[in-house]
Amino acid sequence: MSDSIPPMANETPFQLSENAPVNFEFISNAEQPLSDAEQPLSDAEQPLSDAEQPLSTRKRPKRKRTNWPLLTIAICLVGVYILYVFALPEIQVAIFRSRFPKKFIPPELALKGSTRTLLRTCEFLFVGWFFYLGASIGSFLNVVAGRMPEGRTIVFGGSKCPYCDTRLSFLDNTPVLGWLLVQGKCRTCRLPIAPRYLMIEVVIGAIFVWIGLWELVSSGSNLPHWDSSGRSGLTSLVLFTQWQLIAAALSHAGMFAVLIMLGVANEGRKPFPILPFLVMAAAVASPKIFNPSLDFVSWTEPFQRSLISKLGPIANPLVSILLGVLSGLGLGWISSFWIAKRPNSIVERHWILQCFLIGSVLGWQSVVTIVLCSLIVYGMTRSLWSSRSVSIQSFQSVEAFVPSMCLIGICMLHHSLWRQIAYLIGIV
Ligand SMILES: [Zn+2]
Repeated sequence: MSDSIPPMANETPFQLSENAPVNFEFISNAEQPLSDAEQPLSDAEQPLSDAEQPLSTRKRPKRKRTNWPLLTIAICLVGVYILYVFALPEIQVAIFRSRFPKKFIPPELALKGSTRTLLRTCEFLFVGWFFYLGASIGSFLNVVAGRMPEGRTIVFGGSKCPYCDTRLSFLDNTPVLGWLLVQGKCRTCRLPIAPRYLMIEVVIGAIFVWIGLWELVSSGSNLPHWDSSGRSGLTSLVLFTQWQLIAAALSHAGMFAVLIMLGVANEGRKPFPILPFLVMAAAVASPKIFNPSLDFVSWTEPFQRSLISKLGPIANPLVSILLGVLSGLGLGWISSFWIAKRPNSIVERHWILQCFLIGSVLGWQSVVTIVLCSLIVYGMTRSLWSSRSVSIQSFQSVEAFVPSMCLIGICMLHHSLWRQIAYLIGIV
């Protein structure tokens, strides 16, 4: 969940100056003398003096506070489960009957009793599992984004509290749940853990769920040229496992996770190192080398599709990756002069790497569309903010993240509508 990374720049100075020295001194140094001083007091049965007041306060048994955020989430999850498994099928049947009174109810709605409960529970657990997978990857990438630019290893050394260096327990280190269990505070020193750890785990978890449903369960309905053969739904995914589609979904979800990690690393003091980035890019772009059908838009489209037949099945995806990378690098480099305020800044470098990654996975056509649209959205955001002079300060505090947020947002939109966009630009 967390690592020994300094918290966000805008929250550290305030929280540390208010709490850190006081709490730290109080727990580590002041505790021993106070407990020694307790003995004469109890023997003489004297009333408590002012000096002993903190001791008596500390000796009071702690009231166990209700973890309201965790309780609320648990209740919401149970509510959503009941709604999805029991209430929603009845609502769907009622709507179907009112719209088509003379037609037979389709088999997926006609299921009754334990079969329906079992099937829907599996679907609910599938979404939960995909969220947890994404959140776990998000938790790992939190560590990568914090340690790699500093040149520290990610293999050894577990996560620690950044203030008191206490090693986090297995349960506290669990993605999302760990942060909620400790309510965003270290168990030992009670100093705040930056909420960005939780946010990144939740965002990457949500992206995995979105790709799982939109791309995997819908049987690639968003992918250009992909023939789903009329199979969709979780049952079909399990019974007729389409490994190619699973590889594509994991590759795309991995791309989004690395894009977010680079965006998070924008706030660091050093840029993300190139070699680990290249390893990650190779991991998410390589499935199409091993399986050319995962190269959804070939490099010749929308121009000379006949050129594909002249190259071999391995050369085509390689050329596709190379063209995507070159387009991403070129566009990223040109636009980075406008994106970043200072030359060679971390934001500029990460922006170029993000364009590189999108190009290598989705192809040159996609990276051109995504980067141009992102620049328009970024320009609009900047002009909107500059027209409201009051909020300039708040813009400056998130400025490092805005280009990445625009790029990732447009990339998600593009990915949802990839097939439609491909038709629009002439890829049939
Ligand atoms: Zn601590």
